Amino acid sequence: MAVHVRFAPSPTGALHIGSVRTILYNYLLAQKEGGRFILRIEDTDQKRLVPSAEAYILESLRWLGIVPDEGPEQGGSLGPYKQSERIGIYQTYIQFLLDAGHAYYAFDTPAEIEAMRERLKAAKIANPQYNAISREWMRNGLTMPLEQVQEWIAAGIPYVIRLKMPHKMLIRFQDGVRGWVKVDTSVLDDKVLMKSDGLPTYHFASVVDDHLMKITHVIRGEEWLPSTPIHILLYRYLGWADEMPQFIHLPLLLAPNGSGKLSKRHADQYGFPAFPIAWKGPDLTVENAFREAGYLPEALLNFLALLGWNPGTNQEIFSKQDLIEAFSLERLGKSGVKFDIAKAKWFNQQHIKKQGATIWASYFITEAAKEHVACSQQEAIPICNLVQDRITFPKDFWKEGRFFFFDPVDYDRELIEKRWNSGTKEAIVAFRKGLATLPEWQTDQIKTLLKEWSIPGMMPLLRMALTGGIAGPDLIEIIALLGRDKSAKRITTFLERVE
Ligand code: GLU
Repeated sequence: MAVHVRFAPSPTGALHIGSVRTILYNYLLAQKEGGRFILRIEDTDQKRLVPSAEAYILESLRWLGIVPDEGPEQGGSLGPYKQSERIGIYQTYIQFLLDAGHAYYAFDTPAEIEAMRERLKAAKIANPQYNAISREWMRNGLTMPLEQVQEWIAAGIPYVIRLKMPHKMLIRFQDGVRGWVKVDTSVLDDKVLMKSDGLPTYHFASVVDDHLMKITHVIRGEEWLPSTPIHILLYRYLGWADEMPQFIHLPLLLAPNGSGKLSKRHADQYGFPAFPIAWKGPDLTVENAFREAGYLPEALLNFLALLGWNPGTNQEIFSKQDLIEAFSLERLGKSGVKFDIAKAKWFNQQHIKKQGATIWASYFITEAAKEHVACSQQEAIPICNLVQDRITFPKDFWKEGRFFFFDPVDYDRELIEKRWNSGTKEAIVAFRKGLATLPEWQTDQIKTLLKEWSIPGMMPLLRMALTGGIAGPDLIEIIALLGRDKSAKRITTFLERVE
């Protein structure tokens, strides 16, 4: 059977970075196995729906370079891919469950359900819920005569349809990460499958759709593990037990200090992004997102891939294609992983370097133009090459290379007072003169000259004279790129100012 996986977001807000990792693992498995990655929008909860969230999800996927094989945009033979467009399908299957006695109508009002809970609480029942015991006293298809049920439905009295959870049944299943999981149904309630608005709930719709979309592997976050026994029962009751997907529940992404599930609050506290792209929603605005902060999608994917999966080798840098080739479910980790933003930055540096200076030169030229600096590709490439070890985000290229185009306007007085001594002026002047008469403008010649004239304390001063700063890439390379005239001029200005 061809591998079919799905990412099935509810469009209720921005996509958390943990979901991006879930998307990635689904995508990698499909690509590796020559299968299909399906995007399904689970939009049947009208109360939580945020209209712009679907577009946000699609835009995030586009930015990440993860294109679903089938989905609302791509179409496909297993569609429609939005649950709100599949309402008729759920009707057929809920009728099947009703007829088989695995589901029943329930007419209880919210007040009646609350009263039931209060009664159970008063009787010291630890976890009061609508279940195999309490349903006996409620207003539902199991306690009412059939004719009355039909009359009430015909009269338009609101109802839900609930799953008839067996009283004490042990459900066992093998999770791809956790191994064998056992759950006694007595801890589970009679889940609502169809709501009073006629729309299915998540549990019911997702099982029906996973089956109809021929899903072979359900890869999702660990928070869905407790729901899986419900899904397994539904598979059985619908007659699909033999075609059940493999369930794989991914361990949580943890806060940097390991203090629980990574949240937006942690991200804000530590000052790193928690969402792939910026978002403006009804009750949440995200400005600090990975895209906007300057992370490359490939770097982010590389970073996320290794938070919960390992290749079994020392390799750290992976392109998307490398990840596809190396990925395997067997190497998913079992425990939660701390989110380390320093590592994400490191991956960004590595992927920026990997792309090469030619690519970044164009970016550099655009940034230069914003400060009215005309810079050619020929000038930009060596500068980008020189500064690239100091780059974490693309915007750093211009920040680090800008001094080539602007003479220093100010110097660090304290540094000068500390480093300046009786021989400094002569040494710097001699070096400047030497530069003017170098037979060839080459780094090794500049290097020899500098060795000849350098005295203790002079190097930082020279760097300041040439760049205005105290840190930067190799000074000899800087001089070589600045050229004979600019270097001499900057040194002269510096000496004049010091005097
Ligand atoms: N719609 C669910 C969500 O919002 C999908 C969970 C699953 O993958 O089964 O995450």
